[in-house]
Amino acid sequence: MSDQKQYATYNDVHNLCKEAAKGPLEKFQINLIIAIGGGGYIPARILRSFLKKTPDAPNIPIQAIGLSLYERLGTDSVEEAPGTEVKRLQWLDMNSSMANLIGKNVLIVDEVDDTRTTLKYAVEELEKDVEEARKQLPAEDEKKNKETKFHVFVLHNKDKAKKGDLPKDMTANRYHAAVTTGDVWICYPWEAENIEQHDREAKLHPIVDTKKTTVEESST
Ligand code: 5GP
Repeated sequence: MSDQKQYATYNDVHNLCKEAAKGPLEKFQINLIIAIGGGGYIPARILRSFLKKTPDAPNIPIQAIGLSLYERLGTDSVEEAPGTEVKRLQWLDMNSSMANLIGKNVLIVDEVDDTRTTLKYAVEELEKDVEEARKQLPAEDEKKNKETKFHVFVLHNKDKAKKGDLPKDMTANRYHAAVTTGDVWICYPWEAENIEQHDREAKLHPIVDTKKTTVEESST
């Protein structure tokens, strides 16, 4: 990763969520959101406002999961390279929340797709657990054969080699990153101690959308 930092403001986040909800996410017909904490919480809440079809439509429920990446240092051998693993800090209750996912179009929301380790873990584990919850339903339950479709939204995807992979069909059709960046460190407004200073930095070092830059450069 380069040393360079790029800054996203609250307004940037708001507008990216709005554009995504009114554009590429609309066709997914989302009826449940799972926010990966803590970076997914604020984008998830903004998305909910814009995914609502009409002002009097019911709010789309938001569930939260908490995951953290940690470095596991080998204890057996000094030569063993550190590995990065995901730890569950918060998960969905199998009998109520997980069963509630059956038959839904679920949007998994995080702020950034970096090495993709977190997203891979979230998608695989949610898919596995929802099938487990389905098995536990009685045969006569009308939800038993209803499909659950997972979709992913991130504000930023770093264009780099990923350590984790997502199903091909998901990256092709059920994954949306509002912005593609280089391998830079992104500073989010909810992490800022001084939000005015953060916004000043954002003017000097805004997020660069490498996809847009490439398209614009190639068209001039
Ligand atoms: P992953 O490597 O699994 O894709 O990302 C794991 C987590 O690391 C993200 O959910 C996020 O919390 C954190 N992270 C990765 N890259 C950045 C970044 O550029 N800025 C910030 N603030 N957090 C990041």
